[in-house]
Amino acid sequence: MAKPRSEALYAEALQHIVGGVNSPSRSFKAVGGGSPVFMKRGQGAHFWDEDGNRYIDYLAAYGPIILGHAHPHVTEAICRAAENGTLYGTPTELEIQFAKMIKEATPSLDKVRFVNSGTEAVMTTIRVARAYTNRNKIIKFAGCYHGHSDLVLVAAGSGPSTLGIPDSAGIPMSIANEVITVPYNDLEALQAALERWGDDVAAVMVEPIVGNFGMVMPKPGFLEGLCAAARSNGSLVIYDEVITAFRFHYGAAQTFDGIQAPSLSAIQPDLTAIGKIIGGGLPIGGYGGRKHIMEQVAPLGPAYQAGTMAGNPASISAGIACLQALQEPGLYNRLDALTANLAEGLAAAAREHGIALTINRIRGALSTHFCDHPVTNYAEAQDTDGEQFALFFRLMLEQGICLAPSKYEAWFVTAAHTEEDIATTVAAAKRAFAVIAQR
Ligand code: PMP
Repeated sequence: MAKPRSEALYAEALQHIVGGVNSPSRSFKAVGGGSPVFMKRGQGAHFWDEDGNRYIDYLAAYGPIILGHAHPHVTEAICRAAENGTLYGTPTELEIQFAKMIKEATPSLDKVRFVNSGTEAVMTTIRVARAYTNRNKIIKFAGCYHGHSDLVLVAAGSGPSTLGIPDSAGIPMSIANEVITVPYNDLEALQAALERWGDDVAAVMVEPIVGNFGMVMPKPGFLEGLCAAARSNGSLVIYDEVITAFRFHYGAAQTFDGIQAPSLSAIQPDLTAIGKIIGGGLPIGGYGGRKHIMEQVAPLGPAYQAGTMAGNPASISAGIACLQALQEPGLYNRLDALTANLAEGLAAAAREHGIALTINRIRGALSTHFCDHPVTNYAEAQDTDGEQFALFFRLMLEQGICLAPSKYEAWFVTAAHTEEDIATTVAAAKRAFAVIAQR
């Protein structure tokens, strides 16, 4: 596929935008460098680039586009909102409607607040937890990504790991010292950390199902043990559900019965951060939790958080429309079935060509790991063949299949994908594995 216009645009972008991209995970640095593809249009499960090439999209904008691009119900809601003015700086009735929808689907949220990104949402849950507990330290899990606020850019997965900078520069030691990192799915390590730092720990923060070093399920009992250990230490539990909310079913992962726990009530967090899907493709984030904890937030309490753009009618309207569309009966089962076919097709194609490939699939999301061992934590996700992934990524792109340019990112199937898209993708993967097997 020739991409002269993408290449020319990239050269121009480099003159004006740092690294040519407005988010580092869009760069092709980790997959051999060169120009990323400049997309011009998205419709349903497909993208068209500036050179007129068509792609099947599994990036889904790193998660939000679960309905596919330009879904008519969402588009109409955005247009209607724009006609009425996109930003008032006052409360609106729409925000109440949306808050009720989010709360109904996520019972641990007594009170919510909308912000503009997942980063803001997570950052604020940490501030609220610190204000509530009057403690400073946070325990997080290696390879989980929680946005780019200072505290959580330590052992961060996703983009930072992809680019080899899991511990970002520019973060004072005094802040990094407030973060304790333990391996995901390792309750003993968590307990040891809690014993060591005890009543300094404000919160344990976790992606209840990981989406940032591939898709990784909590082992049976992990979340339950995490919640129990944190609480017996007087620490809060924060779930980062920026990727997982509305990803696997209509609600957050904390109410997803695919998580093996004795009861879902045993794994409910105190605070939750959400984002991505709930904005229907416009900028959004949100956080919420138990009433008495959320009452720390201004104007009720002393923990400050604000936003000029927060709760803007365009994002909220897109979010309401997206959640309405996600209520279509059978939608999540369709995503599940399509993704199961994709995973089976990829696995069979890899086997046929003798390529070691571990596929982690959870409903409509999967991750591919070039290795012959399971991937249940960050160390196992790191211990995979990045060069093979980079070659696979490029061979797929050349055949019109758009994946994230990172071995740590998930593939997202959208409601707009069809069996034909899946078959085309599997056929492309077969050809790619044949090439990789020759190396
Ligand atoms: N938390 C998680 C789990 C995420 O995956 C992300 C983004 N990939 C964020 C937080 C940050 O969200 P945003 O990019 O909207 O700031």
